[in-house]
Amino acid sequence: MTTTRENEIEQENMKREFYHMIINGEKVKGSTGETIKSYNPATGELVAEIAKATKDDAEKAVEAARAAFDTGKWKKFPVGRRSNVLNKIAAIMRSRFNELVELEVLDTGKSLHAAQGQVTQAIEDFEFYAGAIVGHRGAVNNVPGQFHNYTEKEPVGVCAQIIPWNYPLMMAAWKVAPAIAVGCSVVLKPASLTPITAIILGEICLEAGVPPGVVNVVTGSGSEIGNYLVEHHNVDKVAFTGSTPVGKDIMASASQSLKRITLELGGKSPSIVFEDADITSAVDGSLFGIFYNSGQSCEARSRLYVHESIYDEFMDLFVEKAKKLKLGDPFNKGTHVGAIIDQNQLESIDNYVQSAQKEGANVLVGGNIAKPEGHENGFWYEPTIIANVNHDMEIVKEEVFGPVVVVMKFKDEKEAIQLANDTDFGLGSAIWSKDGARATRVANQIQAGIVMINCPFSAFPGTPFGGYKQSGFGRELCIETLDLYSETKSILSYYGSRPLNPFGL
Ligand code: NAP
Ligand code: MG
Repeated sequence: MTTTRENEIEQENMKREFYHMIINGEKVKGSTGETIKSYNPATGELVAEIAKATKDDAEKAVEAARAAFDTGKWKKFPVGRRSNVLNKIAAIMRSRFNELVELEVLDTGKSLHAAQGQVTQAIEDFEFYAGAIVGHRGAVNNVPGQFHNYTEKEPVGVCAQIIPWNYPLMMAAWKVAPAIAVGCSVVLKPASLTPITAIILGEICLEAGVPPGVVNVVTGSGSEIGNYLVEHHNVDKVAFTGSTPVGKDIMASASQSLKRITLELGGKSPSIVFEDADITSAVDGSLFGIFYNSGQSCEARSRLYVHESIYDEFMDLFVEKAKKLKLGDPFNKGTHVGAIIDQNQLESIDNYVQSAQKEGANVLVGGNIAKPEGHENGFWYEPTIIANVNHDMEIVKEEVFGPVVVVMKFKDEKEAIQLANDTDFGLGSAIWSKDGARATRVANQIQAGIVMINCPFSAFPGTPFGGYKQSGFGRELCIETLDLYSETKSILSYYGSRPLNPFGL
């Protein structure tokens, strides 16, 4: 139940037209007064202006994070108290659920049901890590007699966390929750296109009792501010989610000081539909796998391989249901597919589709920029299914990051695995089959961090999320993420009564 005070905050925030950064617990404007403008991709309308960080602002944020870490004010909290604060963050987010959902829809143009699911998951991430951190500890190891060895898990330090625009609040939660659970300080840099809910998360952290300087949010350009953070000598770890090319640049820069890095990058994830699959579930799951979030998901199942014996039956239903997907007002509960993030992304999607057609691909449904009624000034693309493709085409090899799926036939299990693995990426994958032994056998041979068997969903708080090959490395959303924000210190002691004299002098 929301209280009067919470209602007041909600009303106040919905009227806000300007969002500050958060540095050292203060809401600040950028040092030059410049702003970033955030637009609603569904309508093209201005949503708000946001402070734009300069390198000076980023410097202040790193200094604040460093000081907060070095004084130990947060990392020395008893673990139960840190856990309580994480639960309080989740509770405040839940009390402001409608506001967070509404701002996420306005800032991204995504459908209401997608935003509701993602805000829910962001809340549950904090609850998950509030529990997980309590069991995160070192070990006592087997060593020879009269020696004792144990390990301590220590927070890695100051973390720069750089996130993309496709799941703004959820990505912020995936980054901030495990880092602060361990005791790190963070400088979070949201995507320039979608900074609003990350700023609100920063404010909520303060309200919940995270000390000033532990969570800083700087809003500014990736190539300038993001890169500055990655190169900064006082940053100990970089956690990045975004495109593979930027991920490669970050890895190169971070190597100069051997910073710890986690990279969650792009994908071109396959779905394999075997002849023994439940066809309706496979169709419904494959539609969700590509058209959820308008295909702007790193684990979007954008390559679909269907056994030749059921291809026609599967495709008839797949195309029929794709035609029923509704675009339009994202706040309308009946809207399935939201907008595309901006004009550049829209053009990029359309170029991929047009080039594929020139190379001989067949568009079975969609293939056009859309103009839903009342949303003609927004950025929209029709859900698109493309057949008659091969593995030499860009549309099969590269991440389109839009509502576009390519479909091919296969003749047997061996060929399905070979096609699925014939990619530079390795993030998600889906298998549709009623034969449990086959599903397990195929799952074991797929080169991807995530395999979904008869399941449209890729992750819940607790399940590891991350890639093989050029989809990056490190796993988020799970227990082992805590280790990626920790150093392991080994403490070895001797407790024998005779002094040791290894040189025999
Ligand atoms: P992007 O261009 O790589 O940007 C991601 C973030 O990096 C943004 O905050 C961006 O800032 C910043 N950035 C850009 N250039 C930088 C640089 N030189 N140094 C440091 N930071 C820099 O990716 P995007 O277009 O926003 O997002 C889409 C991509 O993210 C897709 O490839 C998708 O697959 C991937 N993704 C992966 C996962 C996963 O878990 N594997 C999840 C979601 C998305 P600006 O916004 O200011 O440019
Ligand atoms: Mg926006």
